[in-house]
Amino acid sequence: MPASLDSLRMSIGEFDLIARWFTRPARRAVLGVGDDCALLQPAPGMQMAISTDMLVEGRHFLPTVAPERLGHKALAVNLSDLAACGAAPLAFTLALALPRVDEAFLDGFARGLFALADEHGIELVGGDTTAGPLNICITVFGEVPPGLALLRSGARVGDDIWVSHPPGGGLGDARLALEAFRGRVAMAAVHFALVRARMERPTPRIALGLALRGVATSAIDLSDGLTGDLGHVLARSGVGATIDADALPTSAALAAQPLALRRECTLAGGDDYELAFTAPADQAPRVQAAASSAGCAAVRIGRIEAAPGLRIVDARGAAVAATFPAFDHFKT
Ligand code: ADP
Ligand code: MG
Repeated sequence: MPASLDSLRMSIGEFDLIARWFTRPARRAVLGVGDDCALLQPAPGMQMAISTDMLVEGRHFLPTVAPERLGHKALAVNLSDLAACGAAPLAFTLALALPRVDEAFLDGFARGLFALADEHGIELVGGDTTAGPLNICITVFGEVPPGLALLRSGARVGDDIWVSHPPGGGLGDARLALEAFRGRVAMAAVHFALVRARMERPTPRIALGLALRGVATSAIDLSDGLTGDLGHVLARSGVGATIDADALPTSAALAAQPLALRRECTLAGGDDYELAFTAPADQAPRVQAAASSAGCAAVRIGRIEAAPGLRIVDARGAAVAATFPAFDHFKT
């Protein structure tokens, strides 16, 4: 970007900041941080998968979050999109607006960011840095063999609908933590620590996405809430579905809450970063094998049907009234 007055407002120079916190030797990339472009070399014949997600303070994270967790989450939500496509991550860029050069913040942020990057063997290859209200924008680059990307448009009538979850964890935990921060709910300290970690330190399901190539017919990552996100799959696939609200994975923390809140959190809570996906019924054993190889669990929550729309029932088959809107930044 053009040199701006913004960068002059920083006490440590923009380039010192980049050198100190965000420059590491390039390993897989042909060329990393420091030139006008980074150079990547995808494996021959592979397609590139690219996704961008922005995190704005007050919108996507609370000012109370530890910088290390913020660094983790900024990359995790981006990796989650690659996971949903069944792509293997390669590299990422980071565009950062900072109100001031806060060394403790940058130390923690970089630690969380690079720890997750190292876990996935990927590197930061470039970005942009400016003064401004705290805003973190990451773009991830991944690769996938042609024809094997998991798309929202692949669900077929008769497919099972699945969601992933961590052992002991469920959907809606991040939303429950948010409600606790808002003072709307109270819970045991041990439960709060668990759901807070689910909100602040999500696990991108990269290994599951890779294991579901050729098994799942469609996939999406759950960022805005199950009903809304699944709605995108149904719309893009031209199908409908029935899901069982009582089959949704629910943590002990959420199970201890009243039914109405449980429903709201599991069906419409955002920020889970689990995968919702579809697969033909005869693929169930392969789905289970994929989940266990990826170190998570997967549970069947419903079925794809020809009749358009999403129907929600309980374990006895009775309709569940659920009119929660999907999370929409321009409506909430
Ligand atoms: P340009 O002016 O050509 O856009 P910049 O001066 O903004 O380049 O950045 C200098 C170098 O530092 C570039 O290689 C850019 O990709 C990299 N860079 C800038 N900000 C970051 C950041 N936050 N993290 C990683 N690399 C960065
Ligand atoms: Mg710049």
